[in-house]
Amino acid sequence: MIIAKLVEKIDSFIHQLTEKVSFHGGVHPAQNKLMSTHQPIQTAPFAAQLILPLNQHIGPESVPLVQIGQQVLAGELIARCAPPLGVPLHAPTSGTITDIGDYPIAHASGIYSRCIVLTPDGLNQMASFTPRSIPTSPQSLKAILLHSGIIGMGGAGFPSFRKIANKTGQIHTLIVNGAECEPFITCDDMLMRERPTAIIEGALMVAHALGATRVLVGIEDNKPEAALAMKTVYQHATQYPNIQLDIVPVPTIYPMGGADQLITQLTAKEVPSDGHSSDLGLIMFNVATLAAVYDAVTVGNPVLNRVVTITGFAIEHPCNVLAPIGTPFNHLVTWAGLKQQDAQWLMGGPMMGVPVTNFQSPVIKTTNCILANPPEPEAETLPCIRCGACMDACPIHLLPQQLYWHAKAGELEKLEALHLKDCIECGCCAYVCPSHIPLVQYYRHGKVAVRTANNDKIAAQRAKQRHENQLARKAAEEQERSNRLAAKRAAMMAADEAAQAAEAPKELR
Ligand code: SF4
Ligand code: SF4
Repeated sequence: MIIAKLVEKIDSFIHQLTEKVSFHGGVHPAQNKLMSTHQPIQTAPFAAQLILPLNQHIGPESVPLVQIGQQVLAGELIARCAPPLGVPLHAPTSGTITDIGDYPIAHASGIYSRCIVLTPDGLNQMASFTPRSIPTSPQSLKAILLHSGIIGMGGAGFPSFRKIANKTGQIHTLIVNGAECEPFITCDDMLMRERPTAIIEGALMVAHALGATRVLVGIEDNKPEAALAMKTVYQHATQYPNIQLDIVPVPTIYPMGGADQLITQLTAKEVPSDGHSSDLGLIMFNVATLAAVYDAVTVGNPVLNRVVTITGFAIEHPCNVLAPIGTPFNHLVTWAGLKQQDAQWLMGGPMMGVPVTNFQSPVIKTTNCILANPPEPEAETLPCIRCGACMDACPIHLLPQQLYWHAKAGELEKLEALHLKDCIECGCCAYVCPSHIPLVQYYRHGKVAVRTANNDKIAAQRAKQRHENQLARKAAEEQERSNRLAAKRAAMMAADEAAQAAEAPKELR
C-alpha cells in the first residue's frame, strides 16, 4: 500500500512538470486508484432488501406502479416517469415489494426520500427482453434512452433523453468521457478494460443516430490498460465507416472529467457561460451510460445495476463490484470488509463526494464509489491570507477568494456578478487553500441563498403583477358599470323628454 501511494505521488509530480492542459487551473491530489484495480469487477450476493429511490435523476420523482405484496420480475417496470422530464424505474431483480415509503438516501443534508423496497427472492428471474433495432434517428434514440431509464451515470444524473437534439445533424461530435479524474474511483477504468465493446459500440450507435461524424474518447493517461482495450476493440469495429473515432489520452489532472474541461481539452473550444455544449455541435456521454445504451439495444434490458468502486484505506479488499440498484451501502462495505469501524464514509471521491450519514443509504444509478477512510483530525480554519492560490487553481477562472468574502457577508448581488452559478463545486480552491477554509461549503450556501432570493423576488414580482392586474380589472369593471349607468340615465332622460313631449298641448308642440 505504501509503495502504491509512493508510485502515485511520483506519477503526479511528473505530470505537473510535463503535461499539456488546455484549461486553466486544476490540481494533482494523490490518486490512490491502484488499490481497487487489482482484480476484475466482482459480483456481490444480493442484499436482504433493495431500496429504490423514486428520484435518482434530476427532475420530478417517478410514480409507483406497484403495490406492497406484489411479486415482480427483474427488469419489470415498477415506477413510471412523471411527464415530461422524469425517467422510469425497473426492478433490479425478482422478488416482492415489501414497502413504499421514506428512506434515507446519500445526500449532503441527510434527507429521506420516497422509495420502493424490494425483497429479492434469490432466483433473479428476468422479465422477457427483446433486442431493439439500432436507432437511426434522434427520436428513436430518445425513445430507447427514456424507456430504459438511462441517466448520466457519471454522477450528474441528468436524464439522457433530455440531452438529445431533435434534428439529425445538429450534433457533429460525440465526446465520450472516460477521464475519471477523481481520486480513488476506478469503476469507469474497469468498465473500459472489461466491456470496451459495449462502450465503443454504444458510442457508435449514439453518434449514428444523431448524424454525428466524429467520436472523441477522452481517457486520462493514467489508464493505459483501459485505453489499449478500447483501441483494440475499435480497430475491429467496421459497422459505421462514416464515423471517425479517436481515443485521445488526456493529462491526468483534476478536474479533467468535468464536462466543460474535457471539451476544452479535446476540442480547444470553450462552452459559453450561459450556453450548452450542443451550441457548439457537441454532446457528451459517460462510458457507463454508453454501455447502458448498448445493453438497452442489443439485449433490450433497462438499467438494473451499475459498477461501484468500494475503496479507501479502511476497506479490507478494495475492488469494483457490479451492484444491483438499491443495494444498501453497508451490505457492500461489509462484503468488501471494513477494517475500521469509525471510518468516514463518502459517496463519491474525496474532492466532490457526499458524506454518508446513514450506512443503509442505497446505491442509485449515479453512485460510482463508496469511499471509507480512517477519520482525519479536522484542520483548523485560519483567516484568509490573500495568497491567490485558490484563483490559480480554479478551472472556471472564477475569483474564489472574493466569492468567499461575499458569501460570508451574504452579499448576494456581488455573488451573482462574480458568476457563482458557474462554480462546479470541484473543490480545487479548498484543496490548495493554506488556511483550510471550507470554501465550497460557502459557495453551496451562497448558491442556495441566491436561488432563494431570486425565487422570492420572482414570487414578489408575480404577487405585485397579480395585485396590479386585480386593480386594473376592478377599475375596468368600475368604468364599465359607470358607463352602463350613464347610458341607462341618458336613456331614461330621453324617455322622459319623449313622454313630456307627448303630453304637452298640441299648440305647444
Ligand atoms: S487560497 Fe485560501 S488563503 Fe489563499 S486567497 Fe484563497 S481563500 Fe485566501
Ligand atoms: S469549487 Fe468553484 S470556485 Fe472553487 S475551484 Fe472549483 S469551480 Fe472554482
